[in-house]
Amino acid sequence: MEAMAAFRDGAMSHPTFKIAVLAGDGIGPEVMSEARRVLDKIASRAGIGFEFDEKLVGGAAIDAEGSALPDATLEACEAADAILFGSVGGPKWESLPPAEQPERGALLPLRKHFGLYANLRPAVCFASLTHASPVKEEIIEGGFDVLCVRELTGGIYFGEPKHIDRDGVDPVAVDTMVYKRSEIERIAHVAFTAAAGRGKRLTSIDKANVLQNGLLWRETVESVAKDYPEVQLSHLYVDNAAMQLIRNPKGYDVVLAPNLFGDILSDEMAMIAGSLGMLASASLGESKGGGHYFGLYEPSGGSAPDSAGQGIANPIAQILSAAMLLRYSFGLEQEAASIESAVRAVIDEGVRTGDIFTGAAGTQKVGTTGMGDAILAKL
Ligand code: NAD
Repeated sequence: MEAMAAFRDGAMSHPTFKIAVLAGDGIGPEVMSEARRVLDKIASRAGIGFEFDEKLVGGAAIDAEGSALPDATLEACEAADAILFGSVGGPKWESLPPAEQPERGALLPLRKHFGLYANLRPAVCFASLTHASPVKEEIIEGGFDVLCVRELTGGIYFGEPKHIDRDGVDPVAVDTMVYKRSEIERIAHVAFTAAAGRGKRLTSIDKANVLQNGLLWRETVESVAKDYPEVQLSHLYVDNAAMQLIRNPKGYDVVLAPNLFGDILSDEMAMIAGSLGMLASASLGESKGGGHYFGLYEPSGGSAPDSAGQGIANPIAQILSAAMLLRYSFGLEQEAASIESAVRAVIDEGVRTGDIFTGAAGTQKVGTTGMGDAILAKL
């Protein structure tokens, strides 16, 4: 990003980035305030300005303004450099018509409005939290760190024709898997750029043995690979990937998949990582050049109504979402990495919120703010 490059070169003393903050419902506001504290500390330490614009979204916005995504919220997002999102939804709004419910009424329109085509979901299992994973200890000893990159706006979820015909004796439903080369190229660039910045290995998922889409997917990914000679590319059929990722998650770095396959595999990886309260995500749109994007960053989990209002939710997913925002939207790699190291150090020291606390010797149970304090102390 130009502002950041100028800042690092000393040509600009105090770059300012605008962040639209949409905390949402349930635990959203509680975990968001910890992420805000972390960003404030990063700002004062690095000499950067973050301008936060807090707006209502989801159920809270329905209650106050009658819509899950009020105009003022969308306008704040348009004016921002990135969106930090909490989570939306809860029992109070479940009886509304589906299109008006918090998730359908806020998240889907935001994705569409900003053309957020790349969904990045890191599945990280920390060495000291392998017990929280359903996978055998001997397979994941030492933990793992896999980044799932899912194409989010194309493929079978959106392809036309798409209809269901219930007339006649044998009803028919049609969904169509469509990918254009340009759609595959842009998501492949996101995945290769991410891989180049970490373990330099990319596994592309397709079903090229059965689907025409798979053939185009594979040949396009191979042609994009020529721009990233430092990244080692391999391919897996999706059925085999579902098995291999569980058999040996430590063997993977970045996994790239079309929409449907990525939806399923990223949930599989979240499950084996252990705790939902630890997992961040990014949905990226327009590239600003230099590997930086406009994006929406949010925890992988939901609004956790069962934990809301009690000060017990784990803020790490939200804090790591803020770290992803710094990396992918602002190019602040060092600052993002310092947040991730602080989280890792706190976990290694045995600090645990209730969702990851087992009572094991050397561990200490804290609430949402206590976890925020511990992470701030490491920064
Ligand atoms: P959920 O992710 O909210 O909760 C599942 C379980 O994980 C719960 O036991 C919860 O307490 C726990 N959990 C999740 N995040 C946690 C955290 N940070 N710390 C501690 N524990 C955590 O999923 P759900 O119960 O199926 O859905 C609850 C509501 O959230 C629903 O209204 C759903 O529609 C909504 N939802 C929203 C989003 C989103 O905003 N992107 C995503 C998923 C679900």
